[in-house]
Amino acid sequence: MKLIERDRAVLWHPYSSVGDNAPLWQVDAATGVRLHLTSESGQQAEAIDAMASWWCMIHGYRNPVLDAAAAEQLARFSHVMFGGLTHEPAVRLAERLVAMTPDGLDRVFFADSGSVSVEVALKIAVQYQTAAGRPARQRFLGFHGSYHGDTFAAMGIGDPVGGMHSDFPGLLADNFFAPRPPAAAEATPETIAAWASNVKSLALAHSDELAAIVIEPVLQGTGGMHVYPAECLTALRAIADRHGLLLIFDEIATGLGRTGALFAADHAGVSPDIMCVGKALTGGYLSLAAMLCSERVAMTVSAGRAGALLHGPTFMANPLACALANASLDLLETGEWQAHVARINAELTSGLAPAAQLAAVKDVRTIGAVGVIQLASPVDVAAVTRVGIRHGVWLRPFRDLVYTMPPFICDSSETEIITAGMVSAVAEVHGDTTGSTAP
Ligand code: PLP
Repeated sequence: MKLIERDRAVLWHPYSSVGDNAPLWQVDAATGVRLHLTSESGQQAEAIDAMASWWCMIHGYRNPVLDAAAAEQLARFSHVMFGGLTHEPAVRLAERLVAMTPDGLDRVFFADSGSVSVEVALKIAVQYQTAAGRPARQRFLGFHGSYHGDTFAAMGIGDPVGGMHSDFPGLLADNFFAPRPPAAAEATPETIAAWASNVKSLALAHSDELAAIVIEPVLQGTGGMHVYPAECLTALRAIADRHGLLLIFDEIATGLGRTGALFAADHAGVSPDIMCVGKALTGGYLSLAAMLCSERVAMTVSAGRAGALLHGPTFMANPLACALANASLDLLETGEWQAHVARINAELTSGLAPAAQLAAVKDVRTIGAVGVIQLASPVDVAAVTRVGIRHGVWLRPFRDLVYTMPPFICDSSETEIITAGMVSAVAEVHGDTTGSTAP
């Protein structure tokens, strides 16, 4: 039996239903920015990974520095429990994260995925408020269009309409949601002030119940690739301070260079009280995330009735993952990513511009190493993916979005292949300006 048939017999893929027979490609190898694929019919193809494996593979596949770091740590030990034990990769990584993240984030808790780090962030916010004598503050202020992961508390602060709230009635926390921040392309000081005033009213009305404000800074990813002005974060900092709320930044998608700054918070020069980092942390090699918080939050929680942060995963601070994260930070610390991301941004901006002429396209936007074509209607995912591969690009569109978040090591010719592939796929599948639909 062929691999894809065996897969269909036993496996479940992300956001899929059993038996849907959605197209699948087999990955035979992955090197640099390229995936080597075999299709269901046995055809071989090579495609540039415009998704960087769901935004995490920033230095590319089989990166020699990361490969060597993994081999070196494997030769020492790959895992030990973190209760009562510690190790050099975790300590060094925590020190480096404290040094590179916005000021005031001085304490690190390692989690095994982005969603789990969000759970820890929410938990610590509630524990903080309880320890500070405000036990009724158990709810969160989130935003329409947000996404923070697939575990229950994380889903509970995700978009209340397009998220998964209606699928789990009664199980998701009853949180409060403000409108999404105004789009960067159209925002004015007035629209930002009006939005902030809306958030402020919610915070004021429910401050007795609210533990924290939770947001993806500058870019709401899964909820629509929505780019918004950094000034909104400054407003949130003031609102949180005014009403005794903690400010939580979910930098799982935006952190480590993706938006052009090391952290999206840096665009505003704002420090949150709690921050989550994941995805690109290990350069995409292994699952690892971190929750960072201020010493004030950490000390308050530690002095609280529970006497501890109530979390401790089996694979917490996995040494292999920490060693890879240290190697990935070594690569980032050369600073070369900055020039790459700036160049990629310019190339995505010019390369995707022709898409704006297509009748099916509603908007084209970029930020850092993120390029988005938003259609006026839902994307034909299977067709766009198929045509993308024909043009040598691996795309994974969703909703009304055909987008890229490429590895930072993409050179100019590779970003050109990506943008040309995206524009061609949209034109071919969704029709060009003349209304013709090429095969
Ligand atoms: N938060 C944000 C902003 C994300 O984009 C994601 C994943 O896409 C998550 C949290 C969840 O991370 P993970 O998939 O590692 O659990």
